[in-house]
Amino acid sequence: MRVKLLPSSVGRQSQLQSLTSFIVDDRLAIDAGSIGFALAPHEIGSVHHFIITHSHTDHTASLPIYVAEAFPLLEAPVIVYGTAEVVSALREFIFNDRVWPNFEKIQLNNGSGPALEFQELQPRATVSIAGIVVTPIPVNHLVPTVGLLVEDESAAVLFTSDTYTTDEIWKAASATKNLKAVFVDVSFPNAMGELAEASKHLTPDLLAVELKKLDREVEIYAVHIKPTNRDDVIRQIAALGDPRVSIGEIDRDYVW
Ligand SMILES: [Zn+2]
Ligand SMILES: [Zn+2]
Repeated sequence: MRVKLLPSSVGRQSQLQSLTSFIVDDRLAIDAGSIGFALAPHEIGSVHHFIITHSHTDHTASLPIYVAEAFPLLEAPVIVYGTAEVVSALREFIFNDRVWPNFEKIQLNNGSGPALEFQELQPRATVSIAGIVVTPIPVNHLVPTVGLLVEDESAAVLFTSDTYTTDEIWKAASATKNLKAVFVDVSFPNAMGELAEASKHLTPDLLAVELKKLDREVEIYAVHIKPTNRDDVIRQIAALGDPRVSIGEIDRDYVW
């Protein structure tokens, strides 16, 4: 028998991205695929606000771990924001006292409330979360999914989340004056166009089509590139010759 203990994270030096989490302004997490694995112990518990764009596990995998690891340190509940479909999936399939404890029922030691709270987002309804203005916009994916237009006092940034070809979010991006950047799903190389369509993700060729809908000179960062086809995707993105587009880098501070 061979038994190997695998690391929980691919490591900060690696640019391979099988899971998705962003942190905005040090206080708002967008998706929780990796955050519970990637943060150092002294950083755990520092983020209280999570938006989950859809229920797929590469965007939720480390959320239960994060909540449990943070629990002894939390001075306020972890608040998870998502559409009704996302909240119901997290309650039913993860925090269900079978896969993981129901932290909505577990009180924090300081009496400030439960360890976990859910708040529903309505598509297209702008909300302020931890002082950051967020508009969820439906995109075209296998399960109900929202991309996010995120704005603070200095910039607006668009996160498409996982999506196939779509229109509404590009319209919203084009209409956002202070838009500085877009993080867009480019999962598969062009040769896997059928898989991209079946799983509702973009390829470099489809990205080129989508970017025609964005009539703006902003920075475009390709993310969610599947590790096994990463080199092909990067080569094909370069071949597009669109100077706006580059590859999103892990652990880099993007500042606008
Ligand atoms: Zn997905
Ligand atoms: Zn995904």
